[in-house]
Amino acid sequence: MKQAETALVIGGGIVGVCCALYLQRAGYAVTLVDPEAPGNSTAKWSCGQMAVGEVVPLSKPGILRKVPGWLLDSTGPLALRPSALPGIFPWFMRFVACARPTRIRQIATELASLTQHAYDDYAPLLAACTQPNWFGEYPVLEVFESPQGLAHERAHLALREALGFQVQEINGKEIGDLEPALAGKFQQGLLFADWRQVRDTEGFIVALTDSFVQQGGRRLQTRVTRIEEANGRATGVQLEDGQQCAADVLVLAAGVGSKGLWGTLGMSVPLAGIGGYQAVLTDPGVVLCHSVIYADGGFCFSPMTRGLQIGGTIEFAADGAAPDMRRADIIVQKARRLLPALRAEAGNMEYGVGWRPFVPDTKPVIDRSPRLTNVLLAFGHGQLGLTLGATTGRLVAQMARGEAPAQDITPFRANRF
Ligand SMILES: Cc1cc2nc3c(=O)[nH]c(=O)nc-3n(C[C@H](O)[C@H](O)[C@H](O)COP(=O)(O)OP(=O)(O)OC[C@H]3O[C@@H](n4cnc5c(N)ncnc54)[C@H](O)[C@@H]3O)c2cc1C
Repeated sequence: MKQAETALVIGGGIVGVCCALYLQRAGYAVTLVDPEAPGNSTAKWSCGQMAVGEVVPLSKPGILRKVPGWLLDSTGPLALRPSALPGIFPWFMRFVACARPTRIRQIATELASLTQHAYDDYAPLLAACTQPNWFGEYPVLEVFESPQGLAHERAHLALREALGFQVQEINGKEIGDLEPALAGKFQQGLLFADWRQVRDTEGFIVALTDSFVQQGGRRLQTRVTRIEEANGRATGVQLEDGQQCAADVLVLAAGVGSKGLWGTLGMSVPLAGIGGYQAVLTDPGVVLCHSVIYADGGFCFSPMTRGLQIGGTIEFAADGAAPDMRRADIIVQKARRLLPALRAEAGNMEYGVGWRPFVPDTKPVIDRSPRLTNVLLAFGHGQLGLTLGATTGRLVAQMARGEAPAQDITPFRANRF
C-alpha cells in the first residue's frame, strides 16, 4: 500500500485546526504544531459569532468618520499606542484606500464568496466531533442608541442583503421582547437572523482538536522556528528544541505569528495584530440570550458558558507589546453604565486579549507561497477567523491536492498588496 503523503500545519488556532482536519479528510497524515494548549488561541477571546454577513470592510465611511473622535477619547473604542505608529502608518494608509464605495462593494462580494459556505464547511467537521452542536439557536443583534447610528449602517444593509444575507431592522419594543434586560435602552437595532454564536470558544477548538487526534492526527505542543527547504521545495520545519520534522506539504496558519516565518517564503504581507479586549463576568447578575453588538460603545455582549463576556474594541500596539488590561476595565465600566445591575467584582471577572490577524483590506490570505510552492498560506482572517476557519481548511486541502479550488481564490492572493 502506498504510504500517505504527510502534511504539517503551523498554528493550531481555529484556522490551523480546520486546515488539519480537511487535509486529514483528503488523505494526508497530518501533524499540527502549536506551542499553546488546544483552545488557547485568539478565538478564545473572540465574540464567538458566526458572522456570515459581516462582509462590509471596517474601512466603511461610517467608521472612518468616527476615527479622529475615537482617537482623542482615551476611553473610546479605538486606541493607538505611540510605539505602534511607525509600523502601523503604512498599514493604515492602505486601509483607508479601501474606503472607496466601489472597493467596499468589491471586498464585500469577495468576502461573501467565503462566508456563504461557512456552515456547510463546518458541518462535516462537527459531525465527527463527540458533541456536534456548537452554533446555538439564537441569532445576533446589533443595537443603536441614536437614529444616526443606524442611519450610517443603513447604507450597507442593502449590500449585505444583495449578497444574500438576512438583516432585519427592529424597534425598541422588539429589542425589549428579545432581550428584556435591554428594554427601554435602545430605540433601534438590527437582527442578523442567519448568524449564530459559539458559546464556548475555547471548547470549540478543543473539540475540533480532539476529533483530529482521534482520527489519527498528531499534535505537537511546540513552536516552529524555521521552514527547511531543498531544491526549491519546503522539506519540513525545525522545531524549538532543534528537532526537524519532515513533511510533503506545509500550511502556514499561525495568525499574527505567521510574520515570523515568511522570511524564507519570499513574501511580505501587511499583517497587523489588532488587539481586542474581553472581560468575562462569571456571575453577571444580568441575563442575555443573544450575542449583542453595542454599536455606539464599540463592543459586544456575548453570553458564554463560562459567563457573560463583554468586549471588543480595537487597539494598535507594537508587535509583542504587553496587553493593557485597563482597556478591558473601560469596557466593563461602560457596560455597567448601560446595565447597572451587572455584577462586576474582582472575584467574578477574568480578562483576556486576542490579537486579530488583520490585513488592510480585511480579507484573509489563502494562497500558495510564490517561492516554495508546497507551502500553503492561511492567515490574516482579521475579525472573521472563527467564521471562516472551515472554509479556509476546505480550500487549503483542495490546493494541497493540486485540485483547482471550487471557487475563485484570486482575491485572497498574498501578492495583492
Ligand atoms: C475581541 C475579538 C472578537 C472577535 N470576534 C469574532 C467573531 O465574533 N467571529 C469571528 O469569526 N471572529 C472573531 N474574531 C477574530 C478571530 O478570533 C480570529 O480571526 C481568529 O481567531 C484567527 O485565527 P487563526 O487560527 O488564524 O489565528 P490564531 O487564533 O491567532 O492562532 C494562531 C496560532 O498559531 C500559533 N503560532 C504562532 N506562531 C507559531 C509558530 N512559530 N509555530 C507554531 N505555532 C505558532 C499560536 O500559538 C496560535 O495558537 C475576534 C477576535 C477578537 C480579538
